[in-house]
Amino acid sequence: MHISTETTLFMQKAIYYVSKPVAARGMLELTDRRLLFQVFPFDASFGIRSLSIDITAIRGIEIKAGDIHPRLVVDTNERRHEFMLSKGRELYDYLKPLVGDPLGQERMPPETPEISCGCGKAADARFAFCPWCGARLRAGRD
Ligand SMILES: [Zn+2]
Repeated sequence: MHISTETTLFMQKAIYYVSKPVAARGMLELTDRRLLFQVFPFDASFGIRSLSIDITAIRGIEIKAGDIHPRLVVDTNERRHEFMLSKGRELYDYLKPLVGDPLGQERMPPETPEISCGCGKAADARFAFCPWCGARLRAGRD
């Protein structure tokens, strides 16, 4: 079972390429912490194990065109994992911002403060005049 605070972001059936000739079918799930691949019982009976990859362990992801569906390539320090799923692109889009910011260090720069003009538009707080209507902003600070 999953940790209760984990949130599922994406889930779909996928094929996992264990090695060149070996592939396993299972359920691929992305949570806010991990990428999980739960091998279906039939394939698990061949000794193929389920996977749990911590998002912080992912060094890079790539999307490739596959024969039928896109292939998602996930690189960790230990090895490369390859999955094929119809919504591969969607999963990539979910993963990309998480992988690009594994330690939570690269946040967006703080937004430039804005003030709202009487015309209803928001303008950069450093402006003296509204770029939309030309009215003077910061009326009290001439
Ligand atoms: Zn204005």
